[in-house]
Amino acid sequence: MEDTLVIIKPDAVARGLVGQITGRFEAAGFEIARMRMQEPDEALMRRFYAEHEAKWHFGRLIAYMTSGPLCFMHLRREGAVERARMLVGATDPAEASPGTIRGDFGLDLPRNSVHASDCAEAAAREIGLVFD
Ligand code: ADP
Ligand code: MG
Repeated sequence: MEDTLVIIKPDAVARGLVGQITGRFEAAGFEIARMRMQEPDEALMRRFYAEHEAKWHFGRLIAYMTSGPLCFMHLRREGAVERARMLVGATDPAEASPGTIRGDFGLDLPRNSVHASDCAEAAAREIGLVFD
């Protein structure tokens, strides 16, 4: 079993998509180990996305991620990191395939509806930051 962290981002929470997005992970065999709604928390988001600090869009990313409530999910299954990234789709919703979460629900950058950890080390760091 492997662990990963998914975030349902503010654009998706605001449009009432928590149930549909959670349902896709459950249908794909993920166990929801922990789940929590979170009010905007700028300090937490700055730490979460620290590796992007130098990028030109960092300010927009933090403003977006603190624009409304979000939902953290600690998910578990075999190959969880890779499977979650497949379900989520490409970073830019305009390039994400239909049938992926970003392809179906994402709006633009940075409003791509979900986050999923990109490797096991990131998953461990992110789960620790958000839940422990
Ligand atoms: P991913 O979320 O697919 O791992 P990145 O780690 O590259 O993608 O980026 C983190 C987040 O930053 C993205 O999910 C998106 O919300 C935002 N983002 C990425 N690229 C851009 C961009 N060019 N302009 C604005 N926001 C962006
Ligand atoms: Mg990333």
